[in-house]
Amino acid sequence: MTTERATRGTINPWEVAQQQFDLAADRLNLDAGLRRVLREPRRELIVHFPVKMDDGSVQVFTGYRVQHNLGRGPAKGGIRYHQGVTLDEVKALAMWMTWKCAVVGIPYGGGKGGVIVDPKQLSQRELEGLTRRYATEISIIIGPERDIPAPDVNTNSQTMAWIMDTYSMHVGYTVPGVVTGKPIALGGSEGRNEATARGTVYCIVEAARHLNLDLSKATVAVQGFGNAGSIAARLIGEEGSTVVAVSDSTGGIHDPSGLDIAKVVAWKAEHGTVQGFPGATDVSNATVLEVDCDILIPAALENQITERNAGKIKAKIVAEAANGPTTPEADAILFANGVFQIPDILCNAGGVTVSYFEWVQDLNRDFWDEAEVNSKLKGIMVKAFKDCLAMSLRENVNMRTAAYLLAVQRVADATAMRGLYP
Ligand code: NAD
Repeated sequence: MTTERATRGTINPWEVAQQQFDLAADRLNLDAGLRRVLREPRRELIVHFPVKMDDGSVQVFTGYRVQHNLGRGPAKGGIRYHQGVTLDEVKALAMWMTWKCAVVGIPYGGGKGGVIVDPKQLSQRELEGLTRRYATEISIIIGPERDIPAPDVNTNSQTMAWIMDTYSMHVGYTVPGVVTGKPIALGGSEGRNEATARGTVYCIVEAARHLNLDLSKATVAVQGFGNAGSIAARLIGEEGSTVVAVSDSTGGIHDPSGLDIAKVVAWKAEHGTVQGFPGATDVSNATVLEVDCDILIPAALENQITERNAGKIKAKIVAEAANGPTTPEADAILFANGVFQIPDILCNAGGVTVSYFEWVQDLNRDFWDEAEVNSKLKGIMVKAFKDCLAMSLRENVNMRTAAYLLAVQRVADATAMRGLYP
C-alpha cells in the first residue's frame, strides 16, 4: 500500500477514481452486479523488462498496461513515462479513459499504460530501446482492434512512431492504427498535437458563455507547460484572455500584466524551465494555483487541488486539462464556493477525440485537413459540454458528477445489453 501511495502525497488516484464512480453509481441507482463489474479493471498487465544502457549495463524497468473496460469498443489511452508511475495511478487513468470516451460518445473503452522511469535521465537511444522493449512486452494485448495507445506525460509523437514500427515489425506489415498521436508522415492526424488543449479551450468558451464571463477581459493561470498546458495557454490567448502565470515541474512564473506565451515557450526550450523568464516573478508551483485569475487550467498531474488549497483558489472556472487534478474533497469545496469546474473527463477529451479521428483515418487510408478535424472536434466537444451542463443544472450537481452520470449510464447500458458471458 505504501509503495502504491508513494507519489503525489498520500492520495491514491485509484481510490479517488473509485470514489468518483461510487458517487455516480449511487445516484444512478446502478444495479449491484454492474457496479461490481465497472468498479474494477478488466485487465492489468505488469511487465519487467531489460534495456541495454549506453554504458553497457543492463537495467530492468517496470511497466504497466491496464484495460479498464472494453464494453463500447477497443481500449484507448495514453502511455506515461514518469518516475512516480504506480499500478494504481495507471488503473485510475484507465478508468477515467472509459468515462471520457463515453462522455464524448466515441466508440472506445478505457486503457492506460505507464513505465516507471525518469526519461530525462535517459539518452535518446536508451529511450528508444526502452520504448521498443516495452511495446514488445505489451504487444500481447495491444492492436488496432484491441487497445490503441497514445502520448501522455513525457511521451510524444516520436515515442508513438517507435511503438508503431515495433508492432509492425512483429506482424510483418505496417499497422498505423495501432497507436495515435503519430507524426503526420506516418499516418498521424492534422490537429492531434493541439487537440487536447483545443478541446479544453472549446469548453472554456462554452463555460464563459454560461457564466457571462467576457474572455477578452479574463485572466488565466496554467499549471504544467507541456503538450496540454503550453498549447492551452497559447490558444486561450487567441480568445483575447491574458495568461498571468504558468508553471512546470521546476516551478512557476507570475506577471499580472500578462506573459507572452510564444516567448515563454522559446525560453523553456532554451533553458529547460519557465523560471527566470525576463519581466516575470519566479513563484512556487503552489502559488500558481492560487494567483488572482478568472480561469485556472491544471495541466500537469493528479492531486494538485486538494482540501488543503481548494479554499484558496480564486478562479471562477477550473478547466481540468490534466487527468485527476482535483480530489473529491476539493470538488466539494470548489462547488460550495461557486467555482465552475470543467471536469477532466470532459475538459481534456479533445485529445482522445482527435486520436479517434486519427484511427478512423488510418483504417480508411483517407486523410482530412486540419479545418475538417477542428470543426468535427468542436462539434463533439460543444455537444458534450452542453449535455453535461444540462445534466448538472437538472440534477443540481457539479459538472464532474454530471459528466459521470452521463458516462457511467452509457457504459452500464452497453454492458447490460451485451449481457454476461458465458
Ligand atoms: P507533458 O509531458 O507534455 O507535460 C507535462 C507538464 O507538466 C510539463 O511541463 C512538466 O514540467 C509539468 N509538470 C510535471 N509535474 C509538475 C508539477 N508538480 N507542477 C507543475 N508542473 C508539473 O504531458 P501532457 O501530455 O501535457 O499531459 C499533462 C496532463 O494532461 C496529464 O494529466 C495528462 O494525463 C493530461 N492529458 C494529456 C493528453 C494529451 O493528449 N497529451 C490528453 C488528455 C489528458
